[in-house]
Amino acid sequence: MNEAVAGLAQVRARIVAAERDAGRDSDAVVLVAVSKTFGAEIIRPVIEAGQRVFGENRVQEAQGKWPALRQDFPDIELHLIGPLQSNKAKEAVALFDVIETVDREKIAAELAKEIARQGRAPRLYVQVNTGSEPQKAGIEPRDAVAFVGRCRQVHGLDIEGLMCIPPADENPGPHFALLEKLARQAGVRKLSMGMSGDYETAIAFGATSVRVGSAIFGGR
Ligand SMILES: *Cc1c(COP(=O)(O)O)cnc(C)c1O
Repeated sequence: MNEAVAGLAQVRARIVAAERDAGRDSDAVVLVAVSKTFGAEIIRPVIEAGQRVFGENRVQEAQGKWPALRQDFPDIELHLIGPLQSNKAKEAVALFDVIETVDREKIAAELAKEIARQGRAPRLYVQVNTGSEPQKAGIEPRDAVAFVGRCRQVHGLDIEGLMCIPPADENPGPHFALLEKLARQAGVRKLSMGMSGDYETAIAFGATSVRVGSAIFGGR
């Protein structure tokens, strides 16, 4: 068994245990395997082991490796989890099934335009900068509920959930709790939160998907 396939099995087992510990259904949480920086030769065995949902943080990198893999595995679901520039909205709508990083008016407008033009509608999440970190993408928590409303009413976008990346040096629990509260206030049901270091905590706080990279694929 290669290392990534072993990592996948371990993470899956820990997700099942965390769901059980949190009193949640055994299929409550979707695993998004974050394959950024890893080539197709590393990713392919993970697909063959049954994983179908993957996350990438750069549009261009994803364009380079996923179209060929998708020819062989048409049921792949690809998530964009990195910042989206408005000049990449066209490519992002064409390639991704889920875009998790909608965080400003201009991106919402560009996505709405491309969705109408291409007749292809990726599922959308709003990224919230729960720690208000200046260097980090995401909408400010105090603006998040109104922004989800504007995505719907002004741009006609159906927002499925919220996503966050807590500050690296803080206890993630309060950030996960904040995201859950904002989602309730905004009337969205999905929560993308939790990475290799904290996905079990995120599951306890209600994550519906976790984005796990290094615990599966190893260090980058
Ligand atoms: C890289 C990345 C992850 C995965 O991080 P790991 O710590 O390797 O699990 C999750 N979410 C986002 C947005 C990322 O960029």
